[in-house]
Amino acid sequence: KTPVPSDIEISQSCILKPIDQVAKEVGLLPDEVELYGQTKAKVHLSALKRLKNQPDGKYIVVTGITPTPLGEGKSTTTVGLVQALGAHLHQNVFACVRQPSQGPTFGIKGGAAGGGYCQVIPMEEFNLHLTGDIHAITAANNLVAAAIDTRIFHELTQTDQALYDRLVPSVNGVRKFSGIQIRRLQKLGINKTDPMALTKEEVSLFVRLDIDPGTITWQRVLDTNDRFLRKITIGQSPTEKGFSRTAQFDITVSSEIMAVLALSDGLDDMKKRLGRIVVASSRRGEPVTTDDLGVTGALAVLMKDAVKPNLMQTLEGTPVFVHAGPFANIAHGNSSVLADKIALKLVGEEGFVVTEAGFGADIGMEKFFNIKCRYSGLRPHVVVLVATVRALKMHGGGPAVTAGVPLPKEYMEENLQLLAKGCSNLNKQIQNARMFGVPVVVAVNAFRTDTKAELALVVQLAKEAGAFDAVECTHWAEGGKGAVALAQAVQRASQTPSNFTFLYNVELPVIDKIRLIAQQIYGASDIELLPEAQKKVALYTKQGFGNLPICMAKTHLSLSHDPEKKGAPTGFILPVRDIRASVGAGFLYPLVGTMTTMPGLPTRPCFYDIDLDTVSGEVNGLF
Ligand code: ADP
Repeated sequence: KTPVPSDIEISQSCILKPIDQVAKEVGLLPDEVELYGQTKAKVHLSALKRLKNQPDGKYIVVTGITPTPLGEGKSTTTVGLVQALGAHLHQNVFACVRQPSQGPTFGIKGGAAGGGYCQVIPMEEFNLHLTGDIHAITAANNLVAAAIDTRIFHELTQTDQALYDRLVPSVNGVRKFSGIQIRRLQKLGINKTDPMALTKEEVSLFVRLDIDPGTITWQRVLDTNDRFLRKITIGQSPTEKGFSRTAQFDITVSSEIMAVLALSDGLDDMKKRLGRIVVASSRRGEPVTTDDLGVTGALAVLMKDAVKPNLMQTLEGTPVFVHAGPFANIAHGNSSVLADKIALKLVGEEGFVVTEAGFGADIGMEKFFNIKCRYSGLRPHVVVLVATVRALKMHGGGPAVTAGVPLPKEYMEENLQLLAKGCSNLNKQIQNARMFGVPVVVAVNAFRTDTKAELALVVQLAKEAGAFDAVECTHWAEGGKGAVALAQAVQRASQTPSNFTFLYNVELPVIDKIRLIAQQIYGASDIELLPEAQKKVALYTKQGFGNLPICMAKTHLSLSHDPEKKGAPTGFILPVRDIRASVGAGFLYPLVGTMTTMPGLPTRPCFYDIDLDTVSGEVNGLF
């Protein structure tokens, strides 16, 4: 076989269709498309309104076995599958993928545009600024952070009356409440519209959010892997009069605003979610929201363009929406509801929308079903579960790998015993998908080192485990052609009736929902709530958030909470350390173990290889 060139070489060597041509081909009208140069465009939400009576296409979700450092190829398979369906089987298709964070692009992982002959192109546009959505989220997130600390500062340094005079200023002798202030009064149970009619007590209640600094859950964000911002002290200038506190920066994609973007189903819904975000508790124990801070409208303004999905294309000219990229541990790790909805209308009843869920099926897929589909109302037809021989060998007990060191021989030579043992993980993830009543097609993503017997064994064991079908694919090396058999299996599976059900009813008590996920999906025998988590269950239930769906923040490297436990562990007790709430996005997230919300850089980060050719203007070294 000839060697496959680097991802960026492939991406740069292909001929791109002008993006307005792609838009026209998928049936978008010129006034629904906002061009960002030649290769990217934003799509107006008016397209969804225009097509609202059009039946939806088939909805396919791509997930994987439990990830290992060897990489499984979910993004590559998502792109390969749409290239096969669209460019080879001539179906209407759309891929919907997440926008990657710049943290990993410059850090360890590299980009996320797929790989080999299955990529979203131009990959340098995809992996870097795209159309600025992540920058908009950084801006919106940090506006909230500034609003919180400044508000506390102003409340500490001013009297009730001084605060009132500034918050409701007298203009030409007349004071008027703004819309957001009237909402706050209503929330406080004060049904007055005349600012002069408030009693002293009501003025005090109105002007003082009385945020308890110890309860602030809102952090500043940046889309750079900068570990030195994991713990910082803010307010050290004398102008802040000694009001300083410990705070932290998180990576932008972990911001709740990213999760809000991903789960919103329109501008109005996004604005409502942005206003519902809870940033802290007051000293009285009540939730303090972004709406209380008066920032909802400004957030909506900052996010008004980000809410529109970004249109790009694959190497074989099929359409792609790149939209939202929430963290897959403390958030739900799925691309946007809006992109999926528009794509499902555009492909029409016979067409296919392939969307990708992050990490393994126990995390991204479980959250896709229980959170994303619950909010969107969309019902999936097929699950595509990506597996590789190498990763399954690691689940069977294969040795750990070290970056920069050649792979141990277990991964380079045939070893059917190790592989068969590791298929316990594949088996469990197939059961997890089937639990939701959706047919599963296993995509065995072939690597050059896999042997025929190894590939055949995975196919056989996947079928025995109850997969609708299992197919070997070679799309990374061959493009869409290498995934035609997979595409045909997906077509057949999509014809079978899907009996989709959620795993739990949201009205169940918080603890019961967590236990159901732990026992049914992870294989735990039970859960253990540590004291902080117990306190939060009581707090959130009291505050009225007990009926939100659950977004588990667990390691992606094992079905259990211990990243070292490969395969399909059972009999363990899942410890829940703490629980947090993303009320705007609409979920509670239990923390199982410690989660890094600000990654670091390795000794030799990806940026070592990234360069700009100043003569041609070409970007080199991205992968
Ligand atoms: P995931 O979405 O599961 O994180 P990706 O699709 O991003 O995985 O793939 C991870 C890396 O593995 C990429 O660099 C990709 O080019 C590479 N890769 C994927 N499939 C293959 C394959 N069959 N052979 C060689 N490399 C592959």
